[in-house]
Amino acid sequence: MVEVIKAYRQIPLVAIRGSVVFPHTDAVLSFGRKKSVAAVNSAFQEDRVIGIFTQKDSRIPDPGIEDLYKIGTIATISQMMSTEGEIHAVVKGQARIKLIDLISTEPYLIAKIEEIPSKKDETSEIEATANKVSELFKKSINLGKQAEIMAVMRLVSGKVEPEELADQVASLLDIKTKKKQELLETLSLKERLLNILDHLSHEVNVLELEKTISSKTQKRFEDQMRKAMLREKKKTIEEELGEIEEGDLSSEETGEYRKKIKEAGMPKEVREKAEKELKRLIQLSPHNPEGGYIRNYLDWLCDMPWNKFSPNDVSISNAAKILENDHFGLNKAKERILEYLAVMQIKSKDKPKKNNKKEDGKYKNGENQPTILCFIGPPGVGKTSIGKSIARSLGREFVRVSLGGIRDEAEIRGHRRTYVGALPGRIIQGIKNAGTKNPVFMLDEIDKIGIDFRGDPSSALLEALDPEQNREFSDHYLEVAYDLSDVMFIATGNVLEKIPHALRDRMEVIKFAGYTQDEKFNIAKRFLWPKQVRLHGLDKKKIDLSKQALNEIINRYTREAGVRDLERNLATICRKIARIVAEGKKVPATVKLKDIAKFLGPQKFTSQIAEKKDEVGMSTGLAVTAAGGEILFIEVALMPGKGKLTLTGKLGSVMQESAKAAFTWAKAHYRELGLNEEFGSKLDVHIHVPEGAVPKDGPSAGTAIATALVSALTQVPVKRDVGMTGEVTLRGRVLEIGGVKEKVIAGHRAGLKTIILPKDNKKDMEDIPEKVQKDIKFIFANELSEVLKLALTKWPLIKPRKKKQLPHTPYIAVS
Ligand code: ADP
Repeated sequence: MVEVIKAYRQIPLVAIRGSVVFPHTDAVLSFGRKKSVAAVNSAFQEDRVIGIFTQKDSRIPDPGIEDLYKIGTIATISQMMSTEGEIHAVVKGQARIKLIDLISTEPYLIAKIEEIPSKKDETSEIEATANKVSELFKKSINLGKQAEIMAVMRLVSGKVEPEELADQVASLLDIKTKKKQELLETLSLKERLLNILDHLSHEVNVLELEKTISSKTQKRFEDQMRKAMLREKKKTIEEELGEIEEGDLSSEETGEYRKKIKEAGMPKEVREKAEKELKRLIQLSPHNPEGGYIRNYLDWLCDMPWNKFSPNDVSISNAAKILENDHFGLNKAKERILEYLAVMQIKSKDKPKKNNKKEDGKYKNGENQPTILCFIGPPGVGKTSIGKSIARSLGREFVRVSLGGIRDEAEIRGHRRTYVGALPGRIIQGIKNAGTKNPVFMLDEIDKIGIDFRGDPSSALLEALDPEQNREFSDHYLEVAYDLSDVMFIATGNVLEKIPHALRDRMEVIKFAGYTQDEKFNIAKRFLWPKQVRLHGLDKKKIDLSKQALNEIINRYTREAGVRDLERNLATICRKIARIVAEGKKVPATVKLKDIAKFLGPQKFTSQIAEKKDEVGMSTGLAVTAAGGEILFIEVALMPGKGKLTLTGKLGSVMQESAKAAFTWAKAHYRELGLNEEFGSKLDVHIHVPEGAVPKDGPSAGTAIATALVSALTQVPVKRDVGMTGEVTLRGRVLEIGGVKEKVIAGHRAGLKTIILPKDNKKDMEDIPEKVQKDIKFIFANELSEVLKLALTKWPLIKPRKKKQLPHTPYIAVS
């Protein structure tokens, strides 16, 4: 047995971070750590030999044996220089060594190492691989790999031993430290060379790729430069030849703009502005992003209808015919509209027809309409469709812009051009869409504009609507004034009170109160059903809808002031029939009552009143909301307590005050009501108005609240089919309220038989449709006691009782 005697040595050790020193290579190392500096100093003073090992984790400040890779390099220090706290050394790697142990760790690391002899088994295979490495290395240098030129020349000379070549190329590879260490640890030369070859060929690939990318980029850049230069040259040549002057048509685009500007019929100032912008555009470098903004602006200027009118022929008889043909009922609204148009007709006679521009660019206008029409009413009562009919009867374009939710003035007046993505405001956008200067312009949801820190949109709107100012409406984006005086504005909204005062003043309000069952029936029969049948391609089938079926839809599937839901339900039926047709099945000639549930599912609404009993502590009030008239039930409950009044159901402050006033009235009239004198301090009252999601307010629930309260206090039921509305004063007087028509129609829809109104509202009866007047008994009251007498099932309640007698409510404790 041959005993292998291992040659161990003890040498100072330095740990290095982020690099590997290979044998056969020179390296410059800097040391800053105390132990490393001491080790290098000591070695330099003795035999200049040192062991260099790479740290596994470079973040460890004071590595122990387990933190070092086990294979390192023994090196000699050929030069050394110290600066403040650091030393720099030139070392030359000699051979691979193995770390056996650490003999000492202070003041520096001393290692027990074993030298690893190099295996010099020269085979032709190694030779060939070495040649390949050398070649590939040369290629990488040619592709731009960085390395010291002298070393490179030596390496590619072909005179370097394969082992030396392997180590030197390995040290120059652009790979991670871990991979380098792997190469150091690969003891077989053949294997090492093959690994190096792998890494090198990867590097060469990357370098090649980089080169193609950068040459492509370079080419593109050069192309652009060349084009820009050519353009400049072209411009200079054209200038020399005198071809660039005013009216430059040299490029297709600018020529097009010139043409557009000429044809847009702009007033003088606008044309000048457009031309100035065009000039700026021409002078701009083609790469300047501002070019895009200017183009956009020019497009807007050119597309605005500066001088395009629909003929202003107003014929009242024609308009009357169209309004009549398009809409059922709405007689008052139609009348008002026709009067308005009549004024317009007379005025337009004084006004030059199409082009009313004078030579000096100023406009010569006849007087404009003094007011703007404003349609107020719940959704689906035909406001929009009447607007469309007006446009049709005047032969004008129709545009519609919704103002709902607008809080920013810029929405009306546009953003300044300095903003990215700036656009004109909605008025100018609408006019552009209309394409003429005198469209019928509908401003929807004017009651839903708000005010906040971004400015007041209503003041901008005022400028657009006010005939005194709108001849020169200024939009921030357009920058030039636009004349809106030929536009016929119609505003629409649900509630008049929510429209800002200044705007309301300028408008002539026409109210649409909502439809009765009969009106809905007629509208559906004559307009909505034929329209839906047509829209669903069923006209040839001549499908009819029976009277009972239509009434069923109106009463059991919709509950609304307008006819929007009704139209939707009719559309659903048509859709289902269309499917039957498409499936080739037989379609009934008439949709009957029994078919409705099949098409529309179970009934959605029941009668609001019919199912109710005469109840204690519950009355029926009438209110107007944004969705039109509605009935509301007021409930009162009493509990023993201390006179506290609780109100729930999203009541506004005015309604709360009404409740308090009613309570006070009851306390003041305790005797008349047969109540205990002190009942007010022994009871808590809770008043609730269900359907809590809808905010309710207004004084007109006064009579209803008082009735429910008195009923609860006296335990006398309220008649279920009696509805009431009216404001109540502390002394029990019943005051006039608004919205009678809407409320009465809602009461009719709900099935009320009697409605108690304030006496002063008698005048409103002329607006109430005849059918409603016939179906409902109207009673007019001046005093709360009159209301109670009619609404409660029993009145007078009791003969005045003696003082301190108990009231008959079961809740009141006897004192
Ligand atoms: P609004 O603008 O008031 O919300 P719309 O004009 O959109 O209501 O009306 C909804 C639908 O009802 C439209 O299809 C409209 O033609 C129809 N409509 C409303 N009122 C009438 C009416 N009196 N006669 C005929 N159709 C009507």
